[in-house]
Amino acid sequence: MGKNILLIDKLNKTKELSKEEFISLFETFNDEDIEYARSLACKIRDEWYGKNIFLRGLIEISNFCKNDCLYCGIRRSNSNAERYRLSKENILECCAKGYSLGYRTFVLQGGEDLYYTDDILCDIISSIKEHYPDVAVTLSIGEKTYQQYKKYFEAGADRYLLRHETANESHYYKLHPNSMSFKNRIECLYNLKKIGYQVGTGFMVESPFQTPKTLAEDFIFIKELQPDMVGIGPYIVHHSTPFANEQSGTARTTLFLLALLRIMIPNVLLPATTSLGTIDPNGQINGFLSGANVMMPNLSPAKVRKKYLLYDNKLCSGNEAAEFKASLVKNLKEYGFRVLDSRGDVAKYPFVDCLPK
Ligand code: SF4
Repeated sequence: MGKNILLIDKLNKTKELSKEEFISLFETFNDEDIEYARSLACKIRDEWYGKNIFLRGLIEISNFCKNDCLYCGIRRSNSNAERYRLSKENILECCAKGYSLGYRTFVLQGGEDLYYTDDILCDIISSIKEHYPDVAVTLSIGEKTYQQYKKYFEAGADRYLLRHETANESHYYKLHPNSMSFKNRIECLYNLKKIGYQVGTGFMVESPFQTPKTLAEDFIFIKELQPDMVGIGPYIVHHSTPFANEQSGTARTTLFLLALLRIMIPNVLLPATTSLGTIDPNGQINGFLSGANVMMPNLSPAKVRKKYLLYDNKLCSGNEAAEFKASLVKNLKEYGFRVLDSRGDVAKYPFVDCLPK
């Protein structure tokens, strides 16, 4: 048996590898290793979630951002971005549409837009929960203080997504301006856990300056944090950023890393991301065939979808659009998957199938 297969087996058995072992795996993996990891990951996903896929309705509330991350299409300095933000009424309309389509999690995602004060946000969160007490509200609106996170939690937010982007400090400052703080980002994630949120983190695959060493540090960080969800997708270039001439990441590496994440944290919620579907037309299905179990179709008003461009050519009108749920369900069924209309919380116990076939 090859050295990498042994490492993948070790990860499966012990749920960890040393930094050197991760580095060696990331430096030398081949197609056989990828297929081995993917099939093991599917087996583990099936043990924890069956063939069930959870959907989250994604509402992109604003593309204003006070930050200037070097890879991001809606960074403050991109004067070509056409800016918008949604009002509370717009957001509630998206929720009404999503609820009628069967969505039971809404993800409010946006840049760090100072228009949304804590009072405005808490009002939006509590209004959603009043109208739809059986849904989970996920926030993905960046770095805030402990007190702010606590206020949103008390207003009814259940989950928070904040990708750490890289666990290597010097890599962090190659992706972000010095005005941002690596330490603060990591602290935010631990604060969110302390408050009681279900927490998601993640990173871009093959982002500029990512190396086997930084990736090894990502895996070790994720293992330590024990998040409920990990969102990874290929880095994709946006033409109006300082990284316009960099290379985009690949579906191949993303699928391998997805599988390794499933193997390392068996019950983690793992999305097949829109960026994976953007880089490869079969990317999201292949994500599910690598252990993923979550998808986040877009519920934002159609007229703003083209404006929330974190990267070039982002999908916004096919199966990833929430209104095409029926065709998504049909597609996934062809691969043996079943879409559940539920909140889709993280599994605490292995899966027992008691749903009608
Ligand atoms: S990655 Fe997030 S925080 Fe950074 S510029 Fe883009 S929206 Fe703002």
